[in-house]
Order: sequence, then structure tokens, then C-alpha cells
Amino acid sequence: MSCIKQDARPDHGLPGTDRSYNAFDGMQPRMPAATPVEVRNGRRVKDSAVPPQGVYLPNNNVLTPAMRSPDYVQMSNAAAITLGIMPGKMHRCGCTRCLNLLLTYPEGCRANCAYCGLARHREAERDYADRNFIRVDWPAVPMQQIVDIVARDGEQTPFHRMCISMITHPRSDADTVAVLKAWTARIDPAAIPVSILSNPTTMERADVQRLKDLGADIFTVALDAATPALFDRTRGKGVQSPHKWPKYWEVLLDARDVFGPQKFGAHIIVGMGETELEVLSLVQQLVDLGGHSHLFCFFPEQGSLMDHLPATPRDQWRRVQLARYLIDYAGVRVEQMRFDGEGRVADYGLPQAELEDIVGQGVAFRTSGCPGKFRDDVSACDRPYGDSPPSNIASFPFQPNKKDLQKIRRQLRIPVVQG
Ligand code: SF4
Repeated sequence: MSCIKQDARPDHGLPGTDRSYNAFDGMQPRMPAATPVEVRNGRRVKDSAVPPQGVYLPNNNVLTPAMRSPDYVQMSNAAAITLGIMPGKMHRCGCTRCLNLLLTYPEGCRANCAYCGLARHREAERDYADRNFIRVDWPAVPMQQIVDIVARDGEQTPFHRMCISMITHPRSDADTVAVLKAWTARIDPAAIPVSILSNPTTMERADVQRLKDLGADIFTVALDAATPALFDRTRGKGVQSPHKWPKYWEVLLDARDVFGPQKFGAHIIVGMGETELEVLSLVQQLVDLGGHSHLFCFFPEQGSLMDHLPATPRDQWRRVQLARYLIDYAGVRVEQMRFDGEGRVADYGLPQAELEDIVGQGVAFRTSGCPGKFRDDVSACDRPYGDSPPSNIASFPFQPNKKDLQKIRRQLRIPVVQG
């Protein structure tokens, strides 16, 4: 078994590859259909009430058991393979360095974000624990079993970081605390630091403070959309979802105050209709606040309200990836860059030789996220093939090799250096 989701649509056609950017007007999500009452709120799973027994592998032709955090959490296929609870291999990766845990409930996430495979509108089609998310399945595992394995492995653990991903659910705040406590009771958070991928809609400043007091290291906010209009369209009123841009910023600024410089950040999905100038201005704003941005390349998740839309063209993605790296780690400011009339990067604000040097190092094109133990600009959270198929990698979960860099240069329209 492979941890790579086999997409029936090779590369999803990657229709964006030859285009130059995903413009706002062309990225309208579908409207969610009404959900029949008898399947709302996880009723199918709750009524059948199958007791969970150990690890649950999604879509395995068995009735989905009734699993709940904090006793159960879900984890990516990559994390499950690395933890040794599921067989499998990852294309060109030995393991993942971040143990991503996702809260789980029969009712699932109560939000309806347009790009997300976990969204509420899928209730009729698929039970929560069986939904694909960032292109892969997420096995459900007893929290105690996870802690036992990581505590037993001690210094031999492959993980550099653990991350708790909250979802929009009334129990999410309390259960994040419970999962964090279960972890720190057995595992030293100084040895494997913990990140929180938060859900601001249900949180107050006191919740942020509590997580810090309990030993969380980094707090991130999944803004995902780069502008208020895009946020509203993909995560708010536009798709009958509860999220609000000002609330996300309120909690982001709480995180800045509570967690401090370099210990907070925001996730941003590139290519949902924002301009490159808009997303890079947001990246700059986060750096000016003392935080970081973690970028994802938009990929049309199967079953989501945006699964009919094109993936981010590779040239748009590479420009933003490179420019974001320069802002986050090379001291370049967005004001030094030049943009064309459609907001695309026309000049990175750096002498050509320096730019070539950074491109050649390849780190700018790796997955961005909370750091591991190798270096500050290399993320523990490598999310193998979470935002692209392995045949046309967007975020490299490993150091790109010479051939990868030639392809990246072509995508950036930089002359390929031979030899
Ligand atoms: S809140 Fe998070 S998990 Fe829920 S639908 Fe939105 S992006 Fe998906």
C-alpha cells in the first residue's frame, strides 16, 4: 500500500501548468447542496454506534465506528506509516518529521470551507473519518497508542514535532487541551515540540494562553485565504460556513502576544484567486508582526466545493514560493519587488547572482511549515504530496535534486544552468 493517494485524474490534468495564474473571477466555488436531515451531524455513525477497536483505516468496507477525540485522533497516511501502525512507502521519502494529529468526531467539522475535503457539506456522501484531506486518507488511532509508541521510541523517534489540528466543533477547544496534556504527560515537549493549528472561530485569548501554559511551542492560524473577499467566499457566507476574517486576525494577534516572535504564523493557500502582490503583502505583514507564513499550493481536493477548478499554475506557485522565502528568510521586502499590471512578480528585488544562489540551494521550494531539528527554514511538517501529485511536485517534502531544480528553473522561466 502506498501513502500516496492515487488520483483517478492524472495530475488532475494540471490544467494550470501552462497558464500564468488563477484569477479571482475564474475561481468561484460551487454552492453546497442541502444535506438530508437523516445524515446530518454524523447521525449514521452515531445511530449504528459501532464500538472502535484499535486503528481504523478509512474506506475499508467496514462501518465507520463511533470515534471521538480526545480518545481518538486521526493522522495522515504519512504519519501512520512513519509511526509504524500502517504499512506503506512514500515516493522518494523515508518518513515524515511531523506527527500531524487531527481531532475527530462522528459529527465532523461543522464548517464548510470550499477547498477542504473535511467540510460539512460532504455528510451525505461520506462519514467524517472516511473523508480525504489534503489528498490523502487519515487513519484514526487511539491517542494512548500514539503516546505509547513515541514514548517507547524515545530519542530514536523520527518525529521532530507534533501538531494538533483543531476543527470547528463545540468540543474542539477542550479536547485540544486534553490531547496536549496526554502528550506532555509522557513526552517532553522540549524534545518533541508541539504546534497548534487552531480554529479561531471557537477560541478566545484565554484559550490561546492556556495552550501556551500547557507547553505548546508554536501557534498557527489557518487563514488559508489571502484576502477578506476570498476568505468570505471560500470560508464564510459564500459557502454557508461560520468563519470570519476579523475573528481570525483577532486570534492571530493574540497568538503574537502570547507566543511571541517566531512562535506564531499563518497558513495561506496560494492560487485561490488572490494576486501574487496580495499574497506576498500578507507574507510581509506576518513577518513585520514577527511571525511566519506557511504556504500551500491550491489543489482541487476531490469531493470539495472547488474540485472542478484548476490547480495553481506552476509558474505562479514557484514565483510566490521563491518570493515568500526571500521575505521570510533573506531580508528582502515586498516593497523592493516589482509586480506587473496583473500583480505577478516581475522582479524579486535581489541581484541576479544572489537570486540564482538561493534558487540553487533549493530550500525555497521545500514544504513550508513549523521548523524541525535540521534548520529554521526547513519545516518538520513536510506533508508529502499534500498539495500536488508526485508527478508534478508543488511543495518538495525533501531536498530537490539537480533534475528537480532544472524543472523548477523552467517553471520559474529562469535559464537552466547546465553541468
Ligand atoms: S475549518 Fe478546517 S477542517 Fe473544517 S472545513 Fe474549514 S478548513 Fe476544513
